Formats: sequence, structure tokens, C-alpha cells
Amino acid sequence: MPEHYTEPVTAVYSCMAGTNQPSPRCIALEGEIGRQVSCGMYAARSSSCKEVQIADAQCNKARVAHNMIPFVQIEAPEPVNDDDFDQVC
Ligand code: SF4
Repeated sequence: MPEHYTEPVTAVYSCMAGTNQPSPRCIALEGEIGRQVSCGMYAARSSSCKEVQIADAQCNKARVAHNMIPFVQIEAPEPVNDDDFDQVC
């Protein structure tokens, strides 16, 4: 990862450049927020990036900071008949 991709938060901790501000925008984020974005270093992203999941508190905090509605987590129902499923074709 290029050195300028991180910025210090404390003497010990650092974060991705651009993420430690009221309207965060990571230096590695590609695309247009609110339309289509992706991580430009997805395979090499940090462990803290890997912890963020869609619709969790961190995800929704960033969405709200960019005037987007937060996601709502829903529980997917367990399938009830997969064990007895017979393939027709
Ligand atoms: S997942 Fe990628 S774009 Fe998102 S904060 Fe981490 S490095 Fe930046």
C-alpha cells in the first residue's frame, strides 16, 4: 500500500487517508458515491476494512454522512424444503 494512503490518528494508530473526517472518502475508493463505488485495493484492504459489513453501524454512518438513507438489516428465512427437493429436469 502506498504510504500516502494512510494518515495518523494517534501516535500508534492510523487510518486510510480521507476516512477520519465528517464526510469520509477513502483515498482508495473509486467511483461516484451514491451511484457506483468500489475499493481500489480490495484484495489488500486492512483488517478494519474487512470488519465493515453492509448495513452495519459503520456502513450506515458513512451512508448518512453522504446523505444516503441507511440500510436496514433483515433476517433471511431458513429454507424449509431443501432436504426434500427433487430436481425436475
Ligand atoms: S474497503 Fe477500500 S475503499 Fe473502503 S475504506 Fe477500506 S481501503 Fe478504503
